[in-house]
Amino acid sequence: MLNLLKRFSKDRSVYPRVLTNDDGQFPTQASHHASIIAIALRPGAASLFVTEEFQNHKVAREIQKRMERAGWNVSVANDTAANIQNRYSNKAGEASSTVRSISSYTAIFDQQLKSAIEERAVELRYHVRDTTCGVVHNIDGRVYRALSIDGVQGRDICSNAYTSLADRKSLEAGKNTFSAEQDQSCVIMREIDGAKYKLRYQSLPEADGGFDVTMRILPQGQRGDIPSLEKLDFTPSAIRIFKKAMRRRNGAIYMSGPVGGGKTSALYAALYRPENQRKDYILTFEDPPEYAQYGITRVPVEKIGYANAVKRALRMGAHIVMIGEIRDHEMGSVAKVLSETGQKVVTTVHVNNANQIVGRLCGEEIGLPRQTMCDMDMIAGLFYTSLLPRLCDCKLHATRENLGPRLSSELARLGVPLEGVRVPNVAGCGKCKEGRRGRLPVVEMIEPDETYLRFMRDGKDGDAKDYWLSKCTTPVTSEDVTGKPKMATALYRVAIGDLHVEDLEEGIDLLETYNHRQHPAPHEASRRHQLEVAEAA
Ligand SMILES: [Zn+2]
Repeated sequence: MLNLLKRFSKDRSVYPRVLTNDDGQFPTQASHHASIIAIALRPGAASLFVTEEFQNHKVAREIQKRMERAGWNVSVANDTAANIQNRYSNKAGEASSTVRSISSYTAIFDQQLKSAIEERAVELRYHVRDTTCGVVHNIDGRVYRALSIDGVQGRDICSNAYTSLADRKSLEAGKNTFSAEQDQSCVIMREIDGAKYKLRYQSLPEADGGFDVTMRILPQGQRGDIPSLEKLDFTPSAIRIFKKAMRRRNGAIYMSGPVGGGKTSALYAALYRPENQRKDYILTFEDPPEYAQYGITRVPVEKIGYANAVKRALRMGAHIVMIGEIRDHEMGSVAKVLSETGQKVVTTVHVNNANQIVGRLCGEEIGLPRQTMCDMDMIAGLFYTSLLPRLCDCKLHATRENLGPRLSSELARLGVPLEGVRVPNVAGCGKCKEGRRGRLPVVEMIEPDETYLRFMRDGKDGDAKDYWLSKCTTPVTSEDVTGKPKMATALYRVAIGDLHVEDLEEGIDLLETYNHRQHPAPHEASRRHQLEVAEAA
Protein backbone atom coordinates (compact mmCIF):
# COMPACT_ATOMS: atom_id res chain seq x y z
CA MET A 1 0.00 0.00 0.00
CA LEU A 2 1.19 3.48 -0.72
CA ASN A 3 2.32 5.90 1.93
CA LEU A 4 0.05 8.52 0.49
CA LEU A 5 -3.10 6.64 1.43
CA LYS A 6 -1.94 6.06 4.98
CA ARG A 7 -2.28 9.76 5.57
CA PHE A 8 -6.03 9.42 5.49
CA SER A 9 -8.13 8.79 8.54
CA LYS A 10 -8.26 5.19 9.63
CA ASP A 11 -11.04 5.91 12.06
CA ARG A 12 -13.82 3.83 10.57
CA SER A 13 -16.57 5.98 12.02
CA VAL A 14 -15.56 9.01 9.94
CA TYR A 15 -17.50 9.67 6.74
CA PRO A 16 -16.77 10.39 4.02
CA ARG A 17 -13.21 9.07 3.91
CA VAL A 18 -10.89 7.69 1.28
CA LEU A 19 -11.00 3.92 1.32
CA THR A 20 -7.67 2.29 1.99
CA ASN A 21 -6.35 -1.21 2.04
CA ASP A 22 -7.65 -1.54 5.60
CA ASP A 23 -11.19 -1.50 4.31
CA GLY A 24 -10.65 -4.22 1.71
CA GLN A 25 -8.16 -5.30 -0.92
CA PHE A 26 -8.09 -2.34 -3.27
CA PRO A 27 -5.21 -2.61 -5.67
CA THR A 28 -4.78 1.13 -6.23
CA GLN A 29 -1.32 2.05 -7.43
CA ALA A 30 0.47 5.35 -7.65
CA SER A 31 -0.08 5.46 -11.37
CA HIS A 32 -3.84 5.43 -10.81
CA HIS A 33 -3.94 8.35 -8.46
CA ALA A 34 -4.89 10.81 -11.11
CA SER A 35 -7.59 8.52 -12.42
CA ILE A 36 -9.44 6.71 -9.65
CA ILE A 37 -10.40 7.10 -6.00
CA ALA A 38 -12.79 5.22 -3.70
CA ILE A 39 -14.64 7.18 -1.02
CA ALA A 40 -16.75 5.61 1.73
CA LEU A 41 -19.91 7.67 2.13
CA ARG A 42 -21.54 5.81 5.00
CA PRO A 43 -21.33 2.27 6.39
CA GLY A 44 -21.58 -0.09 3.44
CA ALA A 45 -21.85 2.55 0.72
CA ALA A 46 -19.05 3.99 -1.36
CA SER A 47 -18.49 6.04 -4.47
CA LEU A 48 -15.82 5.23 -6.98
CA PHE A 49 -14.71 8.34 -8.87
CA VAL A 50 -12.96 7.70 -12.15
CA THR A 51 -11.90 9.89 -15.06
CA GLU A 52 -13.78 9.41 -18.26
CA GLU A 53 -10.86 7.63 -19.95
CA PHE A 54 -10.62 5.25 -17.03
CA GLN A 55 -14.28 4.46 -16.79
CA ASN A 56 -14.22 1.14 -18.59
CA HIS A 57 -10.63 0.33 -17.80
CA LYS A 58 -10.09 -3.12 -16.36
CA VAL A 59 -8.36 -1.67 -13.29
CA ALA A 60 -11.46 0.38 -12.44
CA ARG A 61 -13.70 -2.63 -12.97
CA GLU A 62 -11.41 -4.82 -10.87
CA ILE A 63 -11.41 -2.31 -8.00
CA GLN A 64 -15.17 -2.05 -8.13
CA LYS A 65 -15.50 -5.84 -8.05
CA ARG A 66 -13.19 -6.13 -5.07
CA MET A 67 -15.02 -3.41 -3.18
CA GLU A 68 -18.31 -5.16 -3.80
CA ARG A 69 -16.81 -8.43 -2.64
CA ALA A 70 -15.70 -6.64 0.53
CA GLY A 71 -19.34 -5.71 1.13
CA TRP A 72 -19.54 -2.18 -0.27
CA ASN A 73 -22.48 -0.94 -2.28
CA VAL A 74 -20.59 0.97 -4.98
CA SER A 75 -21.82 3.84 -7.13
CA VAL A 76 -19.50 4.87 -9.95
CA ALA A 77 -19.23 8.53 -10.96
CA ASN A 78 -17.06 10.43 -13.42
CA ASP A 79 -14.80 13.23 -12.32
CA THR A 80 -11.83 15.17 -13.60
CA ALA A 81 -8.24 14.03 -13.00
CA ALA A 82 -7.58 17.31 -11.17
CA ASN A 83 -10.40 16.72 -8.71
CA ILE A 84 -9.34 13.17 -8.06
CA GLN A 85 -5.75 14.22 -7.42
CA ASN A 86 -6.98 17.00 -5.22
CA ARG A 87 -8.82 14.53 -3.01
CA TYR A 88 -5.76 12.35 -2.57
CA SER A 89 -3.57 15.28 -1.64
CA ASN A 90 -5.77 16.63 1.12
CA LYS A 91 -4.70 16.16 4.70
CA ALA A 92 -5.80 13.35 6.98
CA GLY A 93 -8.92 13.89 9.03
CA GLU A 94 -10.29 16.71 6.94
CA ALA A 95 -12.97 14.52 5.57
CA SER A 96 -15.00 17.34 4.07
CA SER A 97 -12.27 18.60 1.82
CA THR A 98 -11.71 15.18 0.30
CA VAL A 99 -14.81 15.70 -1.79
CA ARG A 100 -14.79 18.73 -3.99
CA SER A 101 -16.51 18.69 -7.29
CA ILE A 102 -20.17 19.19 -8.03
CA SER A 103 -20.57 15.74 -9.55
CA SER A 104 -19.30 14.12 -6.40
CA TYR A 105 -21.72 16.07 -4.17
CA THR A 106 -24.50 14.83 -6.39
CA ALA A 107 -23.22 11.26 -6.13
CA ILE A 108 -23.05 11.51 -2.33
CA PHE A 109 -26.49 13.07 -2.18
CA ASP A 110 -27.93 10.32 -4.37
CA GLN A 111 -26.39 7.71 -2.08
CA GLN A 112 -27.90 9.36 0.99
CA LEU A 113 -31.26 9.63 -0.77
CA LYS A 114 -31.06 6.01 -1.80
CA SER A 115 -30.38 4.91 1.74
CA ALA A 116 -33.35 7.02 2.95
CA ILE A 117 -35.61 5.40 0.35
CA GLU A 118 -34.39 1.92 1.31
CA GLU A 119 -35.35 2.73 4.89
CA ARG A 120 -38.87 3.74 3.70
CA ALA A 121 -38.22 7.32 4.87
CA VAL A 122 -40.76 9.97 3.83
CA GLU A 123 -38.36 12.77 4.64
CA LEU A 124 -34.61 13.26 4.43
CA ARG A 125 -33.41 16.08 6.67
CA TYR A 126 -30.05 17.79 7.16
CA HIS A 127 -29.25 19.68 10.34
CA VAL A 128 -26.24 21.70 9.20
CA ARG A 129 -24.19 23.34 11.95
CA ASP A 130 -20.69 24.81 12.15
CA THR A 131 -18.68 21.61 12.49
CA THR A 132 -21.23 18.83 12.19
CA CYS A 133 -24.23 17.86 10.12
CA GLY A 134 -26.84 15.38 11.30
CA VAL A 135 -28.63 13.48 8.55
CA VAL A 136 -32.04 12.34 9.73
CA HIS A 137 -34.79 10.11 8.33
CA ASN A 138 -38.48 10.42 9.03
CA ILE A 139 -39.77 6.83 8.91
CA ASP A 140 -43.43 6.16 9.66
CA GLY A 141 -43.66 9.54 11.34
CA ARG A 142 -40.73 8.99 13.70
CA VAL A 143 -37.32 10.58 13.39
CA TYR A 144 -34.15 8.50 13.24
CA ARG A 145 -30.58 9.78 13.01
CA ALA A 146 -29.11 8.12 9.92
CA LEU A 147 -25.55 9.44 10.07
CA SER A 148 -23.32 12.28 11.13
CA ILE A 149 -21.18 14.02 8.57
CA ASP A 150 -18.85 16.96 8.60
CA GLY A 151 -20.56 20.37 8.80
CA VAL A 152 -18.83 21.77 5.73
CA GLN A 153 -19.75 18.73 3.73
CA GLY A 154 -23.39 18.94 4.82
CA ARG A 155 -23.44 22.57 3.73
CA ASP A 156 -21.93 21.65 0.35
CA ILE A 157 -24.38 18.79 -0.26
CA CYS A 158 -27.40 21.01 0.49
CA SER A 159 -25.99 23.91 -1.49
CA ASN A 160 -25.31 21.64 -4.48
CA ALA A 161 -28.79 20.12 -4.25
CA TYR A 162 -30.35 23.58 -4.40
CA THR A 163 -28.00 25.18 -6.92
CA SER A 164 -27.46 22.39 -9.40
CA LEU A 165 -30.29 19.87 -8.93
CA ALA A 166 -33.34 22.13 -8.46
CA ASP A 167 -35.93 22.38 -11.18
CA ARG A 168 -35.21 26.02 -12.17
CA LYS A 169 -38.92 26.75 -12.61
CA SER A 170 -39.53 25.88 -8.97
CA LEU A 171 -37.18 28.55 -7.59
CA GLU A 172 -38.80 31.62 -6.04
CA ALA A 173 -38.04 34.98 -7.58
CA GLY A 174 -34.79 36.47 -6.31
CA LYS A 175 -33.68 33.15 -4.83
CA ASN A 176 -31.67 31.75 -7.70
CA THR A 177 -28.63 30.77 -5.71
CA PHE A 178 -28.31 28.89 -2.47
CA SER A 179 -28.11 30.95 0.70
CA ALA A 180 -27.90 29.63 4.26
CA GLU A 181 -29.40 32.87 5.57
CA GLN A 182 -32.64 32.62 3.61
CA ASP A 183 -35.50 30.17 3.76
CA GLN A 184 -35.59 28.61 0.34
CA SER A 185 -37.71 26.01 -1.39
CA CYS A 186 -37.56 24.13 -4.64
CA VAL A 187 -38.49 20.89 -6.36
CA ILE A 188 -35.79 18.34 -7.18
CA MET A 189 -36.37 15.36 -9.44
CA ARG A 190 -34.10 12.34 -8.97
CA GLU A 191 -34.01 8.84 -10.35
CA ILE A 192 -32.85 6.15 -7.95
CA ASP A 193 -32.62 2.50 -9.06
CA GLY A 194 -34.84 3.23 -12.05
CA ALA A 195 -37.66 4.80 -9.99
CA LYS A 196 -38.46 8.51 -10.14
CA TYR A 197 -38.76 10.65 -7.04
CA LYS A 198 -39.88 14.20 -6.53
CA LEU A 199 -38.25 15.96 -3.59
CA ARG A 200 -39.80 19.03 -1.99
CA TYR A 201 -36.82 20.94 -0.65
CA GLN A 202 -37.35 23.47 2.14
CA SER A 203 -34.59 25.20 4.12
CA LEU A 204 -34.71 27.17 7.35
CA PRO A 205 -31.88 29.33 8.74
CA GLU A 206 -30.73 28.57 12.29
CA ALA A 207 -29.85 31.21 14.90
CA ASP A 208 -26.12 30.41 15.04
CA GLY A 209 -25.54 30.56 11.29
CA GLY A 210 -26.42 26.97 10.57
CA PHE A 211 -29.57 25.81 8.79
CA ASP A 212 -31.92 22.87 8.39
CA VAL A 213 -33.07 21.39 5.10
CA THR A 214 -36.06 19.07 4.88
CA MET A 215 -36.69 17.14 1.69
CA ARG A 216 -40.02 15.39 1.44
CA ILE A 217 -39.67 12.30 -0.73
CA LEU A 218 -42.57 11.71 -3.13
CA PRO A 219 -42.39 8.60 -5.33
CA GLN A 220 -43.55 9.42 -8.85
CA GLY A 221 -45.41 7.73 -11.62
CA GLN A 222 -46.82 4.83 -9.67
CA ARG A 223 -49.83 4.31 -11.83
CA GLY A 224 -52.68 2.03 -10.94
CA ASP A 225 -52.55 1.20 -7.29
CA ILE A 226 -54.48 3.70 -5.24
CA PRO A 227 -55.20 1.84 -2.04
CA SER A 228 -58.79 1.71 -0.82
CA LEU A 229 -59.91 3.29 2.47
CA GLU A 230 -59.97 -0.26 3.87
CA LYS A 231 -56.41 -0.82 2.78
CA LEU A 232 -55.34 2.51 4.29
CA ASP A 233 -56.79 1.05 7.49
CA PHE A 234 -59.63 3.46 8.14
CA THR A 235 -61.97 1.77 10.61
CA PRO A 236 -65.46 0.61 9.49
CA SER A 237 -67.42 3.49 11.05
CA ALA A 238 -65.01 6.07 9.57
CA ILE A 239 -65.37 4.48 6.14
CA ARG A 240 -69.15 4.47 6.48
CA ILE A 241 -69.24 8.20 7.25
CA PHE A 242 -66.71 8.97 4.51
CA LYS A 243 -68.66 7.05 1.88
CA LYS A 244 -71.96 8.54 2.96
CA ALA A 245 -70.53 12.06 2.54
CA MET A 246 -69.22 11.05 -0.90
CA ARG A 247 -72.64 9.68 -1.91
CA ARG A 248 -74.48 12.87 -1.04
CA ARG A 249 -75.32 14.72 -4.22
CA ASN A 250 -74.27 18.11 -2.86
CA GLY A 251 -71.78 19.40 -0.39
CA ALA A 252 -68.01 19.48 -0.47
CA ILE A 253 -65.74 17.28 1.59
CA TYR A 254 -63.00 19.09 3.49
CA MET A 255 -60.16 16.98 4.82
CA SER A 256 -57.84 18.56 7.37
CA GLY A 257 -54.63 17.32 8.93
CA PRO A 258 -50.90 17.92 9.14
CA VAL A 259 -48.55 17.99 6.13
CA GLY A 260 -47.71 14.40 5.20
CA GLY A 261 -50.64 13.16 7.29
CA GLY A 262 -52.28 11.23 4.46
CA LYS A 263 -55.00 13.76 3.54
CA THR A 264 -54.53 13.45 -0.22
CA SER A 265 -54.19 9.65 -0.14
CA ALA A 266 -57.43 9.40 1.83
CA LEU A 267 -59.29 11.61 -0.66
CA TYR A 268 -57.98 9.61 -3.60
CA ALA A 269 -58.99 6.40 -1.87
CA ALA A 270 -62.50 7.79 -1.35
CA LEU A 271 -62.67 9.10 -4.92
CA TYR A 272 -61.49 6.05 -6.60
CA ARG A 273 -64.08 3.35 -6.67
CA PRO A 274 -64.33 0.99 -9.62
CA GLU A 275 -67.88 2.19 -10.30
CA ASN A 276 -66.54 5.74 -10.72
CA GLN A 277 -64.91 4.67 -13.93
CA ARG A 278 -68.23 4.60 -15.66
CA LYS A 279 -70.31 6.88 -13.47
CA ASP A 280 -68.29 9.95 -12.66
CA TYR A 281 -66.00 12.22 -14.56
CA ILE A 282 -63.26 13.18 -12.10
CA LEU A 283 -60.90 16.12 -12.50
CA THR A 284 -58.09 16.92 -10.08
CA PHE A 285 -56.56 20.36 -9.65
CA GLU A 286 -53.36 19.80 -7.78
CA ASP A 287 -50.10 21.65 -7.79
CA PRO A 288 -48.16 19.44 -8.09
CA PRO A 289 -50.31 16.36 -8.84
CA GLU A 290 -49.45 13.51 -6.49
CA TYR A 291 -50.98 10.43 -8.09
CA ALA A 292 -51.41 9.21 -11.63
CA GLN A 293 -54.54 7.11 -11.79
CA TYR A 294 -56.54 5.59 -14.57
CA GLY A 295 -60.01 7.17 -14.63
CA ILE A 296 -58.89 10.48 -13.13
CA THR A 297 -57.87 13.48 -15.25
CA ARG A 298 -55.19 15.63 -13.72
CA VAL A 299 -55.38 19.26 -14.75
CA PRO A 300 -52.03 21.06 -14.56
CA VAL A 301 -53.17 24.15 -12.61
CA GLU A 302 -49.73 25.74 -12.75
CA LYS A 303 -50.30 26.10 -16.49
CA ILE A 304 -53.92 27.20 -16.70
CA GLY A 305 -54.44 28.91 -13.32
CA TYR A 306 -57.13 28.40 -10.73
CA ALA A 307 -59.52 30.98 -12.14
CA ASN A 308 -59.61 29.17 -15.48
CA ALA A 309 -59.88 25.84 -13.70
CA VAL A 310 -63.45 26.63 -12.65
CA LYS A 311 -64.53 27.43 -16.18
CA ARG A 312 -62.86 24.31 -17.50
CA ALA A 313 -64.45 22.07 -14.91
CA LEU A 314 -67.88 23.50 -15.66
CA ARG A 315 -67.47 23.32 -19.42
CA MET A 316 -66.02 19.81 -19.30
CA GLY A 317 -69.00 18.60 -17.29
CA ALA A 318 -67.00 17.23 -14.38
CA HIS A 319 -68.91 15.39 -11.64
CA ILE A 320 -66.22 15.41 -9.02
CA VAL A 321 -63.43 17.96 -8.70
CA MET A 322 -60.54 17.44 -6.38
CA ILE A 323 -58.59 20.54 -5.33
CA GLY A 324 -55.19 19.79 -3.82
CA GLU A 325 -55.28 22.25 -0.95
CA ILE A 326 -57.19 25.42 -0.17
CA ARG A 327 -54.60 27.94 0.92
CA ASP A 328 -55.92 31.30 -0.24
CA HIS A 329 -58.98 33.18 -1.36
CA GLU A 330 -58.61 32.23 -5.02
CA MET A 331 -58.64 28.50 -4.34
CA GLY A 332 -61.36 28.89 -1.71
CA SER A 333 -63.53 30.66 -4.27
CA VAL A 334 -62.99 27.82 -6.75
CA ALA A 335 -64.32 25.33 -4.19
CA LYS A 336 -67.23 27.61 -3.33
CA VAL A 337 -68.29 28.31 -6.92
CA LEU A 338 -68.04 24.66 -7.95
CA SER A 339 -70.08 23.58 -4.92
CA GLU A 340 -72.71 26.21 -5.68
CA THR A 341 -73.01 24.97 -9.25
CA GLY A 342 -73.48 21.36 -8.20
CA GLN A 343 -70.04 19.81 -8.61
CA LYS A 344 -68.89 17.51 -5.87
CA VAL A 345 -65.73 19.06 -4.45
CA VAL A 346 -63.19 17.19 -2.36
CA THR A 347 -60.25 19.12 -0.97
CA THR A 348 -57.83 19.58 1.90
CA VAL A 349 -57.36 22.37 4.44
CA HIS A 350 -54.33 22.73 6.65
CA VAL A 351 -55.74 22.90 10.19
CA ASN A 352 -55.23 20.70 13.20
CA ASN A 353 -58.73 19.37 13.81
CA ALA A 354 -62.01 18.99 11.97
CA ASN A 355 -63.82 21.64 14.02
CA GLN A 356 -61.39 24.34 12.87
CA ILE A 357 -62.13 23.85 9.17
CA VAL A 358 -65.04 26.29 8.90
CA GLY A 359 -63.11 28.92 10.89
CA ARG A 360 -60.19 28.56 8.51
CA LEU A 361 -62.30 28.70 5.34
CA CYS A 362 -64.16 31.74 6.59
CA GLY A 363 -61.14 33.36 8.28
CA GLU A 364 -58.95 36.21 7.16
CA GLU A 365 -56.71 34.46 4.64
CA ILE A 366 -59.31 32.49 2.67
CA GLY A 367 -62.23 34.75 3.47
CA LEU A 368 -65.29 32.75 2.32
CA PRO A 369 -68.64 34.05 3.63
CA ARG A 370 -70.02 32.07 6.59
CA GLN A 371 -73.62 32.74 5.55
CA THR A 372 -73.13 30.99 2.22
CA MET A 373 -70.72 28.29 3.32
CA CYS A 374 -72.53 26.98 6.43
CA ASP A 375 -75.23 25.19 4.49
CA MET A 376 -76.00 21.50 3.98
CA ASP A 377 -75.65 21.94 0.23
CA MET A 378 -72.16 23.41 0.63
CA ILE A 379 -70.56 21.07 3.18
CA ALA A 380 -71.05 17.30 3.35
CA GLY A 381 -68.06 16.32 5.45
CA LEU A 382 -65.55 17.95 7.78
CA PHE A 383 -62.82 15.42 8.36
CA TYR A 384 -59.37 15.16 9.88
CA THR A 385 -56.70 12.54 9.40
CA SER A 386 -53.12 12.14 10.57
CA LEU A 387 -50.81 9.16 10.53
CA LEU A 388 -49.23 7.59 13.60
CA PRO A 389 -46.72 4.72 13.71
CA ARG A 390 -48.26 1.25 13.72
CA LEU A 391 -46.94 -1.39 16.08
CA CYS A 392 -45.25 -4.28 14.29
CA ASP A 393 -46.55 -7.81 14.87
CA CYS A 394 -43.54 -8.43 17.11
CA LYS A 395 -45.25 -6.22 19.75
CA LEU A 396 -45.34 -7.25 23.39
CA HIS A 397 -48.11 -7.31 26.02
CA ALA A 398 -48.38 -4.14 28.06
CA THR A 399 -47.96 -4.37 31.82
CA ARG A 400 -47.95 -1.79 34.60
CA GLU A 401 -44.18 -2.32 34.69
CA ASN A 402 -43.37 -1.68 31.03
CA LEU A 403 -45.86 1.19 30.75
CA GLY A 404 -44.91 2.88 33.99
CA PRO A 405 -47.27 4.21 36.68
CA ARG A 406 -48.36 7.42 34.91
CA LEU A 407 -49.49 5.83 31.62
CA SER A 408 -51.06 2.83 33.40
CA SER A 409 -53.20 5.00 35.64
CA GLU A 410 -54.12 7.38 32.81
CA LEU A 411 -55.29 4.45 30.66
CA ALA A 412 -57.29 3.13 33.61
CA ARG A 413 -58.88 6.58 34.11
CA LEU A 414 -59.87 6.69 30.42
CA GLY A 415 -61.36 3.20 30.57
CA VAL A 416 -58.78 1.37 28.46
CA PRO A 417 -58.13 -2.13 29.91
CA LEU A 418 -54.50 -3.29 29.71
CA GLU A 419 -55.44 -6.72 28.25
CA GLY A 420 -55.52 -5.49 24.66
CA VAL A 421 -52.75 -2.88 24.96
CA ARG A 422 -49.36 -3.60 23.42
CA VAL A 423 -45.91 -1.99 23.56
CA PRO A 424 -43.21 -2.08 20.87
CA ASN A 425 -40.47 -4.68 20.84
CA VAL A 426 -37.78 -2.01 20.63
CA ALA A 427 -35.14 -4.52 19.53
CA GLY A 428 -37.28 -5.11 16.43
CA CYS A 429 -37.77 -8.31 14.46
CA GLY A 430 -35.87 -7.45 11.29
CA LYS A 431 -39.02 -6.34 9.46
CA CYS A 432 -39.58 -3.18 11.52
CA LYS A 433 -37.87 -0.13 12.93
CA GLU A 434 -37.77 -0.25 16.74
CA GLY A 435 -41.00 -2.26 16.80
CA ARG A 436 -42.96 0.04 14.47
CA ARG A 437 -43.92 -0.79 10.92
CA GLY A 438 -46.04 1.40 8.64
CA ARG A 439 -48.60 3.92 9.79
CA LEU A 440 -52.27 4.01 10.69
CA PRO A 441 -54.77 6.85 10.32
CA VAL A 442 -56.20 8.64 13.32
CA VAL A 443 -59.36 10.50 12.36
CA GLU A 444 -62.14 12.93 13.22
CA MET A 445 -65.27 12.56 11.14
CA ILE A 446 -67.90 15.29 11.37
CA GLU A 447 -71.11 14.90 9.37
CA PRO A 448 -72.45 18.42 9.77
CA ASP A 449 -76.21 18.67 10.24
CA GLU A 450 -78.49 21.72 10.36
CA THR A 451 -77.78 22.37 14.05
CA TYR A 452 -74.01 22.14 13.69
CA LEU A 453 -74.02 24.42 10.67
CA ARG A 454 -76.36 26.95 12.34
CA PHE A 455 -73.91 27.32 15.25
CA MET A 456 -71.07 27.73 12.75
CA ARG A 457 -73.06 30.23 10.67
CA ASP A 458 -73.60 32.33 13.79
CA GLY A 459 -69.87 32.23 14.59
CA LYS A 460 -70.47 29.99 17.63
CA ASP A 461 -67.66 27.57 16.78
CA GLY A 462 -67.34 26.36 20.37
CA ASP A 463 -71.04 25.53 20.60
CA ALA A 464 -70.85 23.70 17.28
CA LYS A 465 -67.98 21.61 18.65
CA ASP A 466 -69.84 20.83 21.90
CA TYR A 467 -72.89 19.83 19.89
CA TRP A 468 -70.76 17.45 17.82
CA LEU A 469 -69.09 15.97 20.93
CA SER A 470 -72.53 15.39 22.45
CA LYS A 471 -73.22 12.83 19.72
CA CYS A 472 -70.65 10.46 21.19
CA THR A 473 -72.49 7.60 22.91
CA THR A 474 -69.69 5.02 23.09
CA PRO A 475 -66.57 4.49 25.24
CA VAL A 476 -63.06 4.92 23.76
CA THR A 477 -62.82 1.14 23.45
CA SER A 478 -65.55 1.25 20.81
CA GLU A 479 -64.67 1.47 17.15
CA ASP A 480 -67.51 3.96 16.53
CA VAL A 481 -65.98 7.36 15.63
CA THR A 482 -69.23 9.35 16.00
CA GLY A 483 -68.66 12.52 18.01
CA LYS A 484 -65.11 11.50 18.87
CA PRO A 485 -62.09 13.79 18.73
CA LYS A 486 -58.79 12.36 17.46
CA MET A 487 -57.65 11.56 21.01
CA ALA A 488 -60.59 9.17 21.42
CA THR A 489 -60.20 7.49 18.02
CA ALA A 490 -56.47 7.10 18.74
CA LEU A 491 -57.22 5.60 22.17
CA TYR A 492 -59.28 2.95 20.40
CA ARG A 493 -56.12 2.02 18.44
CA VAL A 494 -54.23 1.83 21.72
CA ALA A 495 -56.97 -0.35 23.26
CA ILE A 496 -56.69 -2.91 20.45
CA GLY A 497 -52.88 -2.92 20.49
CA ASP A 498 -52.24 -1.23 17.12
CA LEU A 499 -50.72 1.96 18.50
CA HIS A 500 -48.19 2.54 21.26
CA VAL A 501 -49.56 4.94 23.85
CA GLU A 502 -46.26 6.90 23.85
CA ASP A 503 -46.58 7.42 20.07
CA LEU A 504 -50.12 8.67 20.69
CA GLU A 505 -48.84 11.23 23.20
CA GLU A 506 -46.07 12.28 20.81
CA GLY A 507 -48.45 12.64 17.87
CA ILE A 508 -51.55 14.07 19.57
CA ASP A 509 -51.24 15.18 23.19
CA LEU A 510 -50.65 13.98 26.73
CA LEU A 511 -53.41 11.70 28.05
CA GLU A 512 -53.83 14.06 31.03
CA THR A 513 -55.31 16.69 28.72
CA TYR A 514 -58.26 14.51 27.76
CA ASN A 515 -61.54 13.67 29.46
CA HIS A 516 -63.76 11.32 27.55
CA ARG A 517 -67.37 12.47 27.51
CA GLN A 518 -69.74 9.65 26.71
CA HIS A 519 -73.33 10.72 26.36
CA PRO A 520 -76.36 8.46 26.62
CA ALA A 521 -77.84 7.51 23.27
CA PRO A 522 -80.95 9.64 22.49
CA HIS A 523 -83.48 6.82 22.86
CA GLU A 524 -81.84 5.78 26.11
CA ALA A 525 -81.99 9.33 27.41
CA SER A 526 -85.67 9.65 26.63
CA ARG A 527 -86.41 6.26 28.20
CA ARG A 528 -84.57 7.31 31.34
CA HIS A 529 -86.54 10.54 31.33
CA GLN A 530 -89.82 8.58 31.06
CA LEU A 531 -88.75 6.36 33.95
CA GLU A 532 -87.94 9.41 36.05
CA VAL A 533 -91.29 10.95 35.22
CA ALA A 534 -93.05 7.69 36.08
CA GLU A 535 -91.16 7.42 39.37
CA ALA A 536 -91.98 11.00 40.28
CA ALA A 537 -95.65 10.29 39.65
ZN1 LIG B 1 -41.16 -6.15 14.24
